[in-house]
Amino acid sequence: MKITKNTSKKRLDTIFSEFIRRRDADDKGFIRCISCGKVVHWKESDCGHYINRKHNSTRYDEQNCNAQCRSCNRFDEGNIQGYRKGLIKKIGEEATNLLEFKKYNACKLGQFEINILADEYRAKLKAIKQDKKI
Ligand SMILES: [Zn+2]
Repeated sequence: MKITKNTSKKRLDTIFSEFIRRRDADDKGFIRCISCGKVVHWKESDCGHYINRKHNSTRYDEQNCNAQCRSCNRFDEGNIQGYRKGLIKKIGEEATNLLEFKKYNACKLGQFEINILADEYRAKLKAIKQDKKI
């Protein structure tokens, strides 16, 4: 893989967030909040982390990140009990429990790792944009 430029962590967050929200959107562009079930347009949603994003090992984990309404993400501390229920429904209890252990894994997230993730998610975002016309 050829890395062409350095990407900031903030920029990677933006790319990853757009990918997650588009991934979770239906063909009309609407997402159902993982925590409360409210339906909003993906552009009006947030990329909510089940395991807090301060943990690098799950920060860019696609199972750990799901589209969420802004009210749950920003004003209800992620509505974590609702999130857990929604996540179990989506990925199962075992995978949800695994995330809770994965957060303790050591994870180096230096410039090199950020560049690789940025390239991966730029490509995934491009593909999903072509795939879904939303
Ligand atoms: Zn919500």
